[in-house]
Amino acid sequence: MGILDDVVVNAKSAAEAVSKKAGKLVDASKLRISVAELNTDIRRRYETLGQYVAENCAEALAGDEAVTAQIAELEEVKAQLAAVTRELGDKQNKVICPVCGKASPSTATYCADCGAKLTPDEE
Ligand SMILES: [Zn+2]
Repeated sequence: MGILDDVVVNAKSAAEAVSKKAGKLVDASKLRISVAELNTDIRRRYETLGQYVAENCAEALAGDEAVTAQIAELEEVKAQLAAVTRELGDKQNKVICPVCGKASPSTATYCADCGAKLTPDEE
C-alpha cells in the first residue's frame, strides 16, 4: 500500500506540476500575443488620430512647432512619393494613379480603376 501509493501520488503531483508549468507557458504566450495585438491596435489608433489631426486640425495647431515640423516633413515625403510614382510611370510608359496607385496607359486622362484625374495640373 504505502510505497506504491506514494509513487502514484508523486507521479501525479509531478504531472500536475508539469501541466501547471505548461499552462503558465501557454498563458505567457497568450499574454505576449495580447500585448502585441494591443500595441498594434494602439499604433493604428495613433495613425488614425495623427491622420485626422493632420487633415483637420493643422490650422488650429499651426502655433505648435512640433506639429508644424511633422506636417512639413509629411508634405515632403508626399512630394517624394509623387515624384517616384511619376518616375515609375514614365519607366513603364504608364501613368500611376495618385489616388489608388493603379497603372493606366500613359494616354489615359482618368484612372480606369477609381476615376481620379491622372494628368497633373502643373504641366
Ligand atoms: Zn485610381
